Amino acid sequence: MKDDRLWKATLDQLELRVSQGNFVTWFQSTTIKKREGGSILVETQNPFTYEWLSKKYGPLILEITSGLDSAITDVTFCVASQATPTGLSKKNTRIIAQKNPVATKDAPRRTVPKDDEISAPTTAERKAARSSMSLNAKYVFETYVVGASNEVAHAACRAVVSKPGDAYNPLLLFGGVGLGKTHLLQAVGNALAKANPTFNILYVASETFANDFVQSLRMHTTQQFKNTYRNVDVLMVDDIQFFAGKDKIQEELFHTFNHLHSRNKQVLLSSDRPPSAIPALQERLSSRLSAGMVADIKKPDYETRLAILEEKREEKDMPVDRDALSFIAKHIQSNVRELEGALNRVAAHCDLHNRRATVDYTKQVLKDLIDKPQQKTANTKSVIDAVIMYYDLSKDEICGKSRKKEIVKPRQVAMYLLRKEGNMSFPSIGEHFSGRDHTTAMHACEKIEKLIEHDEDLSQEIVFLKERIYA
Ligand code: ADP
Ligand code: MG
Repeated sequence: MKDDRLWKATLDQLELRVSQGNFVTWFQSTTIKKREGGSILVETQNPFTYEWLSKKYGPLILEITSGLDSAITDVTFCVASQATPTGLSKKNTRIIAQKNPVATKDAPRRTVPKDDEISAPTTAERKAARSSMSLNAKYVFETYVVGASNEVAHAACRAVVSKPGDAYNPLLLFGGVGLGKTHLLQAVGNALAKANPTFNILYVASETFANDFVQSLRMHTTQQFKNTYRNVDVLMVDDIQFFAGKDKIQEELFHTFNHLHSRNKQVLLSSDRPPSAIPALQERLSSRLSAGMVADIKKPDYETRLAILEEKREEKDMPVDRDALSFIAKHIQSNVRELEGALNRVAAHCDLHNRRATVDYTKQVLKDLIDKPQQKTANTKSVIDAVIMYYDLSKDEICGKSRKKEIVKPRQVAMYLLRKEGNMSFPSIGEHFSGRDHTTAMHACEKIEKLIEHDEDLSQEIVFLKERIYA
């Protein structure tokens, strides 16, 4: 496969495997810079994306690219507009990406933080990256299919575009995962940017808002944080359910909102549930949010699903028969992201085998998706696999007896995830870890739960891990 095609197919799959916020932040504007034998060099636009990709996403990128082209054996990263390395690193990225983002020659000479110190780029750093990355040009109203499930939300968004700061402020969209919240938010941003070229428009994933805030406290740069978030005409914060139980951050969002609202600046938010259903959402924030417009997005019906598939087929010029589209629309009902993912998968296979997709071919390609009922709880293997991959440990290490710090924490994380995501009892969690006592498992879960409240990095890690578990 040609490099650009390979990368496009990779991005399509990545988009399904990571949250929209992460996708927009980290993967937009990446390309394959060079390919030598089984090695590909991925170019990023700035040092923080470089670090983040090599640390967190190397293995996933390798998994996807090698799935698309079995000749690929390793992936390395570089930063644009710096000299290309002479020869690609022979290091296996499975390791590089996990623990030691060994700087390739052209990578910035930043000191690499210890693994447990890895934190998101600072406000200032990310701010520099954000201006070009915050909006994804592909999320526009023109490609958003409107049906009974989303017409209210869509109309509210249109109203915001015609009267920003005036129509509905804040506008909160809520709906399940993959139903089009991010698309709509970004469509508003793109439309406003087009109509008002001087507008300062900021779209962030809620994790970014939270990380920036925590970072600004740490680095004593809260003024800078305020400059970034309060000096805008339009602020969009995506997936605020992430703020559940995070009082300080809720408070900051509350103040940011008040500041913007009093100046008639538009605020748009999204959440996967209504404000009243976000646990530990401060009363005053909740009532503030509910005072604006709250519009929900429901699951699309068959006709809308088919229309969406047709839209995507046209957008990407995919060689897929209409019957094949209705087959997909009939069988994939959960959400639009899965729907699109199924279509992308079919298209990637067509691309690889240079053919059109008929119904039969589509059935064959999507066999495992359609035959298997969706798993609701995580199974033990997927949890353990995700944890050992993420922390670059072996199964023996994580399940064994070692009390080394760098193994104990991942082990506690694994126990926590088995409990939370796998609904497993404490005694059976203990069993899986060399027959430890159930109190050890209980202690681990409590400890991680406590840590998450304050440790943004850890809670980000948990987000990544969950993505992997359910990927
Ligand atoms: P959410 O933010 O609610 O999880 P997204 O906005 O990320 O969902 O949507 C997931 C994918 O589905 C995106 O690629 C988006 O373009 C697509 N999508 C969702 N709803 C629609 C729609 N009504 N029309 C076209 N594409 C849609
Ligand atoms: Mg989203």
